[in-house]
Amino acid sequence: VRGLQKHFPVRSALGRRTGSVQAVNDVSFDIYPGETFGLVGESGCGKSTTGRAVMNLIEPTGGEVWYEGQDLAKLKGARLKNMRSNIQMVFQDPYTSLDPRRRIGYAIEEPLHIHRRGSKNERTERAMSLLERVGFRPDQYYRYPHEFSGGQRQRIGIAKALALEPKLLICDEPVSALDVSIQSQVINLLEEIQQERGLSYLFVAHDLSVVRHIADRVGVMYLGGLVEQAPTDELFGNPLHPYTQSLLSAVPIPNPRVKKERVVLSGEVPSPLNPPSGCTFHTRCPFAMDVCRSVVPERVQASPGHEVQCHLYAT
Ligand code: SF4
Ligand code: MG
Repeated sequence: VRGLQKHFPVRSALGRRTGSVQAVNDVSFDIYPGETFGLVGESGCGKSTTGRAVMNLIEPTGGEVWYEGQDLAKLKGARLKNMRSNIQMVFQDPYTSLDPRRRIGYAIEEPLHIHRRGSKNERTERAMSLLERVGFRPDQYYRYPHEFSGGQRQRIGIAKALALEPKLLICDEPVSALDVSIQSQVINLLEEIQQERGLSYLFVAHDLSVVRHIADRVGVMYLGGLVEQAPTDELFGNPLHPYTQSLLSAVPIPNPRVKKERVVLSGEVPSPLNPPSGCTFHTRCPFAMDVCRSVVPERVQASPGHEVQCHLYAT
């Protein structure tokens, strides 16, 4: 993902364009085969929009998404369709992504049908084996979504996402609608499936402990920008951006004898409709300097794979 941008037009009641929301602004990162890249930040920071743009569910305003050496925006026809089958999505709320009037087996088969994969019998067989893989009996194929709990529906959503044998799954807050006791079951299932199939995950979440558990590398978003990214242990052990520090210091520390200095933020998250100039975090940053108000910070490589966008680290 290179320089990704997504701006949504804002219109007045009379339909006149009055501005734009910068939902995603100049976001760049890589996802390697078999790894999980976690994307964290508060709600409205642009992490879901980033996931949807990678999935091609929304068209970026600018920037590029490359997949296995191909610029996705330049693909057409059969090649685009084939590429799309390699990238699938697991949604936050599996209930809204499953049609309540359709048996769950048909829901899992649907992508195979759309992509004309296999005969009717082969598709049914595949759906049944996927159901089994995510922990159901094959005869549950004929049940309806309302007959299942939230955690079960999410497992059905995962089976559906796997139908086309994708290589990359975009998981948009896949466990945040579930009870904590169910969350770890779904996370474990995602990890097992990743191992078995060598999948890559883009894992979008606001829950830091979930991301810390599942991600190999983590990116932190604030007001549409990716302000820091690093390998997971490095990010949690040595957070550099003041915003990342504030996010982490809000999380309870397992060992109370380890005293951590709290970074407490002032002010509210500004509107993405009119983001602050310079560093977009300057209105809340306890370390803000004059330069932060006017100059957008460069991205700095603090150590291999650890990138931060903040004037404190300028070289
Ligand atoms: Fe704070 Fe300035 Fe760094 Fe932005 S660039 S995070 S305002 S110190
Ligand atoms: Mg979201």
